[in-house]
Amino acid sequence: MINIDNKFVTDFINDHISDIEACGTTFDYSSESSLGINGQKFLIKLQGVRRNIIYMTKEKMIKFVTDMKKEEVEKFVNDKITMNEMIKFAEEELKNDEVKNELKKEDIDKFKNGKITDENEMKEFVKNIIKINPYVLYWFAYTLYSLKKPKNVNFQKKGSDYIEFIEQLNKRYYIKISTKIQKNFEQLKEFALKKFNKIYLLNFNGVYKKIEKMFNYDTFCKERKSTSSDKIINLAYQFVKDSNLLCCPYCNRAFIETINENKIRTAELDHYFPQSIYPFFAISPWNLIPSCPKCNHVKRDPDTIKTPHLYPYELADSRALFFVPVRNDKESENNDLQFDFSNPKYFDIKIKIFQKELLNEAKNSKKIFHLEQLYQNNKKTVSIIYELLRFKGEDFLREVAQYFTHNPTKKNKIQAKLKEFINIKNEMLLPYGKDGILGKLSQDIQDYCTDPFIRIFLTYFC
Ligand SMILES: [Zn+2]
Repeated sequence: MINIDNKFVTDFINDHISDIEACGTTFDYSSESSLGINGQKFLIKLQGVRRNIIYMTKEKMIKFVTDMKKEEVEKFVNDKITMNEMIKFAEEELKNDEVKNELKKEDIDKFKNGKITDENEMKEFVKNIIKINPYVLYWFAYTLYSLKKPKNVNFQKKGSDYIEFIEQLNKRYYIKISTKIQKNFEQLKEFALKKFNKIYLLNFNGVYKKIEKMFNYDTFCKERKSTSSDKIINLAYQFVKDSNLLCCPYCNRAFIETINENKIRTAELDHYFPQSIYPFFAISPWNLIPSCPKCNHVKRDPDTIKTPHLYPYELADSRALFFVPVRNDKESENNDLQFDFSNPKYFDIKIKIFQKELLNEAKNSKKIFHLEQLYQNNKKTVSIIYELLRFKGEDFLREVAQYFTHNPTKKNKIQAKLKEFINIKNEMLLPYGKDGILGKLSQDIQDYCTDPFIRIFLTYFC
């Protein structure tokens, strides 16, 4: 609903770059011998990908998710990919510098000259690409991560763990494992090794725990010693404080305070792209929106990629949503443009969408945060603004001064007093400024009441 000046995020990243990175645990890979050489390599690579992910802007986050090429990988692991599709996939991936640099030059040449005609050879070539592409690599990590399995899976025994593991595999990896394979562990192991390029069976629990630590939001919120100074830091608290926000950007109805007196009291941080669906954006500053607890919890994790709502870091001077009082008293003789809004009983507050390019986001914000329902409790504010606006203008001042006295010297004095009153009144209209509590409502209602163009447009065209 209201814009957050986004410059602070860039400054925050610059100021705390080493602390943000350290909150994902920098591993000493040589001591991770239990993960095996493949496990270590996998995590080293992932650590590099993680760095890029943390600093992604919204646009890049969206691109990242859509670029994960989930479908292609799924098809590949399911052996459902045709020779033509493999060629297309490889051609597309070879545009990526990282992939190009890591493959053998002679293999690339062979591919480019159309000399890989054998299906298995082509498969091997594509498989190598998948291993290199950080997005695809991350997709493996992501599926591993979403396969929430904190317990150790005992592969040797067919207990309940084992059955659950098979079920998860079937569900998460969209693989139908035949009953025959399910019954035979050795066959299953062979199958998994083939499908997942050995990544899968690297000490499952160990790798899982490391990935979880890399993107753990709790470490972002924890009080600890800074890596760059002697100070004790709490990144979440610092983030809210640096934002200088006065109130919740989603509802504009709740104050945001940061108080640190023995115990920290601060706003919550909403994950624009929810943690439950996109765990890898859990500690990305561009994904964190300081907000009130109610707005943070009301979201119930809709997938923001599919159902985007207004993104407060990119809403400068936005008129996406516009508060309008709409009469509910149809009996009245007054026409809509002259309607008197001094009595809350005779109107409702509606939220109209002014800026068509944000139509979808605005509609979703309105719905997700129940804005229209919430603001019915602020009708009195609208009436007060309406009344205050009536006492405006030089003509009005002259008229009142006239009313009180015919003595011209006194008239000037009364006029000056009234001007003073008007200045106080203007302050009353926006007591906390336009970014403060109810600032958006106050501003919109004032514009609605004073600008005939806006009023006509909103009444008849929105
Ligand atoms: Zn809120």
